[in-house]
Amino acid sequence: MLRTLSGRLAAAMLVLILVISVIFVGLSLFVTRLHFQEVNQSLGRTLAADVVSGTPWLMRGHDVNQDAFKDAFDRLMEINPSIEIYLLDPEGHIMAFSAPPGRVKRESVGLEPVEDFLSGDRPFPIRGDDPRDPERAKVFSAAPLLSNNELQGYLYVVLGGEEHDSVVELFQTSFVMRLGAGLAIAAVAFSLLVGFLSFSLLTRRLRDLTRVMDTFRASDMREPAALRPWRHQGGDEIDRLGETFEHMSERIAAQIGQLREADESRRELMANISHDLRTPMASLQGYLETLQIKDDSLSPEERRHYLELSTKHSHHLSRLTDELFQLARLDQPNPSLESEPFSVAELAHDVAQKFRLEVEQRGLNMETEIPVDAPFVSGDIGLIERVFDNLIDNAIKYTAPGGTLRLALTPKDGMVEATIADTGCGIPEADQPHIFERFYRVKRRAGPPAEGTGLGLAIAKRILELHGSPLSVKSAPGVGATFTFQLPASAA
Ligand code: ADP
Repeated sequence: MLRTLSGRLAAAMLVLILVISVIFVGLSLFVTRLHFQEVNQSLGRTLAADVVSGTPWLMRGHDVNQDAFKDAFDRLMEINPSIEIYLLDPEGHIMAFSAPPGRVKRESVGLEPVEDFLSGDRPFPIRGDDPRDPERAKVFSAAPLLSNNELQGYLYVVLGGEEHDSVVELFQTSFVMRLGAGLAIAAVAFSLLVGFLSFSLLTRRLRDLTRVMDTFRASDMREPAALRPWRHQGGDEIDRLGETFEHMSERIAAQIGQLREADESRRELMANISHDLRTPMASLQGYLETLQIKDDSLSPEERRHYLELSTKHSHHLSRLTDELFQLARLDQPNPSLESEPFSVAELAHDVAQKFRLEVEQRGLNMETEIPVDAPFVSGDIGLIERVFDNLIDNAIKYTAPGGTLRLALTPKDGMVEATIADTGCGIPEADQPHIFERFYRVKRRAGPPAEGTGLGLAIAKRILELHGSPLSVKSAPGVGATFTFQLPASAA
């Protein structure tokens, strides 16, 4: 039980209550006793003086009148059997006493408390020596015995007789004390019970939270913790702890998911890279070896053919490594962009010019719609040129002869929108969400596969991402494809 928080809290409370109870009982007994003595002494304050005034012949000169003393003692015993009376001489020596012989253990009584009592300067209770017990002091009443105004001694009345001396004795003899003790024990037991219940109630949410944490850990931190809805409404520390843990677990689960995904895509990427590098390299190697081995037996045409194929594969390899290198640079945590204002219209004209020959060779038409007054845009001109290159290169690749390419710039709302459209084979709807993924290539049934690495669009998208612009595509198979992106007009 001490292993749970509520158990520990309850044990701490038990110890606290016991300590407080012991202190409280001790203090109560002490105060009760003092109060009892004070009341006793106040009630018996005039007792000795009354005896002296009622029995003036207690002393005969310097001697004790034993008969009168016995008479006075008998009378007092009738009124209160628990008192003891003593006759003291002016120095405090006991001259006569009422107790049975042998019970009196002292020969004299200290006079200081007696004088204090008579002066009335000290508050009650004033305790004086108990003649029956040298170790003990008791409350008393005292009166001087005067004869012709000369002090003959004192009448010393010990009040309360056999007073309760120990706690055990007090409990044994007092019903009220026993009742009080019983009630106190019942109150402690009740408080403990209430304490246990309230601690277990207060720590219930902590137990729930621990359970949720265990579940989260058991799920290998994949399933975010879900607390009950009402937890969010409260505002105490446990609620906040729960909410914070919930957010934290969501974050951890999401990050772990991302890490797994990243790890998976990294593996996939590595597999793709090695596959895409291995294929052209193996072909290149094969053609070169053929050229080397069959050098004498090859006709000039065959040799040219093998050399052409080798060159094609080496171009492909060089393009692939170039694109991989480009992607790796763009994937750095903080890729350096050389952002500056530039004329996107001029850039678009240059790119169109660059591709014009290839467009013509493929039997395609190219339309441009580039306003002369298009505003400057802000960005890395080298990288944006790469975006245009990749998109126009694709448009050329995937459009059959006779088709049309369109390159347009449209200024709108502080941005310049660039559109690269073609009337080519288009992209099937199911493939459209994936074409920007690395190494993703649409599998086409008809015609020979167009040359490519599957990295062109991924690079274009990453570049535009770094410029804060999305790259969107609209396409219908057989109709064509239109790629659009926007660049912010430069303030300069
Ligand atoms: P690739 O080097 O294969 O062209 P990309 O990343 O540039 O790689 O393009 C990915 C895929 O998207 C291509 O395999 C192609 O099928 C498709 N695609 C890209 N642009 C066009 C386009 N203009 N028309 C039709 N399909 C396109």
